[in-house]
Amino acid sequence: MPETKSYDVVIVGGGVAGLTAALYAGRARLSAVVLEKMAAGGQAVITELIENYPGIKTVTGHDLSQVMEDQAKSFGAEIVFEEISEIRVENRKKIAIGSEALYEGKAMILATGGEPRKLGIPGETEYRGRGVSYCAVCDGAFFRDKRISVVGGGDSALQESLYLARMVEKLTLVHRRDQFRGSKILQDRVLSNARISIVWNSVVEEVVGNHKLQGLQLTNRQTGAKDFMETDGLFIYVGFEPNSGFLQGLVDTTADGYIITDEKMQTSMPGIYAAGDVRKCPIRQLVTAASDGAVAAVTAEKYIEEQAHFSFQPSAFSSQPKNLL
Ligand code: NAP
Repeated sequence: MPETKSYDVVIVGGGVAGLTAALYAGRARLSAVVLEKMAAGGQAVITELIENYPGIKTVTGHDLSQVMEDQAKSFGAEIVFEEISEIRVENRKKIAIGSEALYEGKAMILATGGEPRKLGIPGETEYRGRGVSYCAVCDGAFFRDKRISVVGGGDSALQESLYLARMVEKLTLVHRRDQFRGSKILQDRVLSNARISIVWNSVVEEVVGNHKLQGLQLTNRQTGAKDFMETDGLFIYVGFEPNSGFLQGLVDTTADGYIITDEKMQTSMPGIYAAGDVRKCPIRQLVTAASDGAVAAVTAEKYIEEQAHFSFQPSAFSSQPKNLL
């Protein structure tokens, strides 16, 4: 039987939202644990350069993640690398089930972020790690001076194309519409980058190879024309999906799995909060994830205080304690 460890706040997920929640919980003198399955920093740690985090002109995702982790630890947060398979609520305790231990909290903050959405096309899974990637920072160096393709039109596709274009011979960005979704500044940079060419209004139908990726079968959505494009690598950035499956209906989510909260980050389950990319929200940025984490921790602190007060309140039907001043 794994041991049970008790804290004031259990934070599931160690990205920017989770680490900020840990920082605020620590400063509120609450004991907090951050449970992270991979590396502290979440999406930030696999981002090469960040230039829209206020107060810091430019910083690598790795460095920002490291500082955030150190900062949370300096206020007492414990960081444990462990994947959580289930959350249970028993007698008001919120329990995160890991393989090493059970982590029990008076309050819990879910900050589990998301993972890259798959295209779901033939060859995508087969050639993953053999030409298909979802992480430019992790795999970009394998494609130095090669021809690669990126699919997507949001901030991630644009930002990672700019990063990859610096090392590859040629980059083709395939987007399903004739307009990008990503921010205007990234659009301007992509459109003016001589190494990036764009294939508009097109979708990748199949990843084709022979043990190793060889090319992509494309279809133009406007004309219906089919084309085969040779490529050595394919980076897929078509959005992401929230990591909320392990909750198994414990809290209310949207149909596509984003956790629904109020403005105080309260979920449908009292004492359980959600923060960052896993939450239903209109904007997903590092700065909004940090904001969510701070709000969730402050709300959790108030909840813990109220629960303590409630527990110590003499019942209306019991006699008053004699030593009460
Ligand atoms: P996103 O904004 O949802 O964009 C996904 C892109 O993939 C869209 O252009 C979409 O096309 C396309 N797409 C979706 N499904 C597709 C399919 N089956 N086939 C082909 N194309 C498909 O996702 P994201 O770029 O990963 O960004 C996620 C969130 O993080 C966003 O809120 C974003 O602003 C934020 N973010 C911000 C930064 C930054 O500020 N620097 C960096 C990274 C991410 P349509 O446009 O036609 O729908």
